[in-house]
Amino acid sequence: MKCDVCGKKVETTFLGKIVGSYMKNKNSKKKVVCPECQKKHTKEELLKKL
Ligand SMILES: [Zn+2]
Repeated sequence: MKCDVCGKKVETTFLGKIVGSYMKNKNSKKKVVCPECQKKHTKEELLKKL
């Protein structure tokens, strides 16, 4: 799994959950966002990049 903003690898927990979160872009596609990008960018900025 890769972050859809920065392209960095996103780890998953042993339960299969990602360390990060899912966001839906304007086309309602599920995108992965790592915690670093969540800190660096606002939700609006992230949506523009996805
Ligand atoms: Zn990222």
